[in-house]
Amino acid sequence: MAGVVPPFPDIPRTVGPLGDMPADEFRTAGHALVEWIADYLQHAERYPVLAQVAPGEIARSLPGQAPEHGEAFGDILADIDRVIVPGLTHWNSPTFFAYFSICASGPGVLADFLSSAFNQQAMLWRTSPAATELEAVTLGWLRQLMGLPDAFEGVIYDTASISTLHALAAARERALRGVRRTGLADRDDARGLRVYCSDQAHSSVDKAVILLGLGHEAVVKVATDDAFRMDVGALAAAIADDRAAGRHPLAVIATTGTTSTTSVDPVPAIADVCERHDVWLHVDAAYGGAAAIVPGMEWILAGADRADSLVVNPHKWMLTPFDLSVLFCRHMDLLREAFSLVPEYLTTSEAPEVRNLMDTGVQLGRRFRALKLWFVLRYFGAEGMRSRIAEHLRLARLFAGWVDETPGYERLAPVPMSVVCFRVCPPSLHDDPAALDALNERLLQALNATGKIFLSHTRLRGAYALRVAIGHARTTEAHLAAAWRLIQDTALGA
Ligand SMILES: *Cc1c(COP(=O)(O)O)cnc(C)c1O
Repeated sequence: MAGVVPPFPDIPRTVGPLGDMPADEFRTAGHALVEWIADYLQHAERYPVLAQVAPGEIARSLPGQAPEHGEAFGDILADIDRVIVPGLTHWNSPTFFAYFSICASGPGVLADFLSSAFNQQAMLWRTSPAATELEAVTLGWLRQLMGLPDAFEGVIYDTASISTLHALAAARERALRGVRRTGLADRDDARGLRVYCSDQAHSSVDKAVILLGLGHEAVVKVATDDAFRMDVGALAAAIADDRAAGRHPLAVIATTGTTSTTSVDPVPAIADVCERHDVWLHVDAAYGGAAAIVPGMEWILAGADRADSLVVNPHKWMLTPFDLSVLFCRHMDLLREAFSLVPEYLTTSEAPEVRNLMDTGVQLGRRFRALKLWFVLRYFGAEGMRSRIAEHLRLARLFAGWVDETPGYERLAPVPMSVVCFRVCPPSLHDDPAALDALNERLLQALNATGKIFLSHTRLRGAYALRVAIGHARTTEAHLAAAWRLIQDTALGA
């Protein structure tokens, strides 16, 4: 796709044998790059959504060694067009409908640029008072927008996988006091630990359990109802059975907005079970938590106020560039108990009165991620965030309606949020599940090969399902209508 955007200007190389890029050159290069980014974000549609390269193609087109002598900045930028952009799958495209559609909004992109320039390493309050305190303030705003109680304190990690890992580490610390010292191996109370989630829960739960040393067998997948929500009766029975057998229920993960269908587990009833059995309740609202800020959608987080912890990813549906995940937790003291470890060279006199962010996580150094969420919340405002998410909800219902009213198509799950699961289902194949799966798989491949849209798939009760996920601020009804036409046209030849 070289040449579709204005070429970068020549930027004379002015750097000496030592020292950084001179300020004037930085200015010229920076302006050129901002021009390019503005154009890219405005016209992301001109690129194939799904990268149309073969494995190894990008690596082969680049030198095997770093250059001995520095190159002109313009030459580096030229390779963005030539090599990198063709190898991008364009998450910024308004017709990116795969997985969860996300959006790196303008203010978020600019904040990340600034964050790199500041190069804050916020391990200690003193290594970045601003990053430390802005994180607390911004997460306080987010907590209010989501209607969560003040008892939840927030901390930013990179991804939901890491947030959930930390939540379960805190749960393990509560259930097995002193486990960080003793480890699991010689403890009787560590035998038969169990973590419950629905059969629709995200694989990050499994990974966290594996990493925490509980063993993958500790994960109990609870059955779901016909709308893919956790069957609370089955959960209660599983916990009671495990108790009776001498096993040790540790935590339940309720998902509000599952990855395949965005189903919402019945958190209030799950919270009842957790309270009865003194089990940690973690709510995975990585995607769905965002929708709870929309009036009328508060039900998504009903009962979440009774959870011990909750994860939400502003990088998914809150206009914030990847990556930024938030863990809200009622028991930051337990996270500290699990992770705080202060070597002499990191002790500070102000420690008793401040929060040192290294104390509540695995990593020591951390980026200034709060800056981009702060920019986004201020630029769009609560009202602007709500209206954009509400529009995505509307578009998803609209698309679901098109599927429902079109003969030969079938919707495979309810649409509580902004994802529609469906398949093409011609009458001639009604009784042939294998042929239906094969047809829909071919359809998906053909659609993605057009480069015009990108969809992904899942399996629901065994059936191969196409997913349309809506979440980009630039996605309009016209994009969706064009996608629906393309799906129908392509299905004729699949
Ligand atoms: C996306 C998602 C995750 C994992 O998110 P990462 O931030 O990529 O780790 C976990 N749970 C749910 C429900 C999700 O939607």
